[in-house]
Amino acid sequence: MTDVHQKLFPTTIIGSHPKPKWLNRVRNLNEEGEFSDERLQEAMDDAVRVVADEHERAGIDILGDGEMRREEMVEYFAHRIPGYDFNGPVRVWGNNYFEKPSVVDELGDPEPMLVDEFEFTRRAVSEGHGVKVPITGPYTLYDWSFDEVYGDKRELIMRLADIVNDEIRRLADAGAKYIQIDEPALSTRPEDIDLVVEATQRVVDGVTKEEHDNIERQIMHVCYGDYGAIYPRMLDIPVDQFSLEFVNQDFAHVEEFAEHDFDKEIGFGCVDIHDREVEAVGEIKSNIERAFGFVDPEQVWVNPDCGVKLLPRDVAFGKLENMSQAAEELREEYE
Ligand SMILES: [Zn+2]
Repeated sequence: MTDVHQKLFPTTIIGSHPKPKWLNRVRNLNEEGEFSDERLQEAMDDAVRVVADEHERAGIDILGDGEMRREEMVEYFAHRIPGYDFNGPVRVWGNNYFEKPSVVDELGDPEPMLVDEFEFTRRAVSEGHGVKVPITGPYTLYDWSFDEVYGDKRELIMRLADIVNDEIRRLADAGAKYIQIDEPALSTRPEDIDLVVEATQRVVDGVTKEEHDNIERQIMHVCYGDYGAIYPRMLDIPVDQFSLEFVNQDFAHVEEFAEHDFDKEIGFGCVDIHDREVEAVGEIKSNIERAFGFVDPEQVWVNPDCGVKLLPRDVAFGKLENMSQAAEELREEYE
């Protein structure tokens, strides 16, 4: 039996999906003490089933739980890693606040953080689909926290890399095939690319697709920044695939990428998550074809620029559905 990723242009998501309004309501009721933790858990389980089904109906091959159990990509892990604490929200932009965690003690080993959610999602997904597990990478965990203990950037990043590696080992042993290491902080701090190369070596140690029977892909997602500043050094990061945003940057880096041998797969961001207009199938097809400027069709996976959680739910669905249709039509043309 062939795996779903072995066809041309497999479709996937980056991670987050809009939460059903009722889930937010249940979470508020839980915080106010009106709903038990057990009820919140049940609501999150139900939301995962609904969203996994939404991904399937939209035609996504390698899907996920839409991060229904996570509020934010650093906070989720910081709540689970011993040695982190929270001192209250920090203003990030406009009236948006972020619970920026602090490292207040030497970091201990957490209990498994993602294995239960992976196993639940896998059971919720029907035959012929894969499940991708996003995990926040050590550089972003470091960069979006305060350090009150280590005082040595490299030491803290490497400690976090060991923690992330332990978790990926557990996921791989549980049967996870597709891991996505999220490092959005990387492209805003290109001067730290060497540290990210070194940290990622430790993150994937023992769980590369060559080393672990279950693993098919180690993927890194980077968004927001200037990829040109980290290219081609970026190609030394030991992952099989980069999933990157292209539409929102107006394909600015396609030509730059073509200047060197792009010897990995590309998860090609082909729909804009900042635009509430659902792109037409034809437009998405020509977006995807921009990738052939620096890679062959066999190297291309198809995904949105980034997680779609800030879009209205029907818009998010419409974008994923048209994206899948575009990939399907291209598959017929290129096979
Ligand atoms: Zn992103």
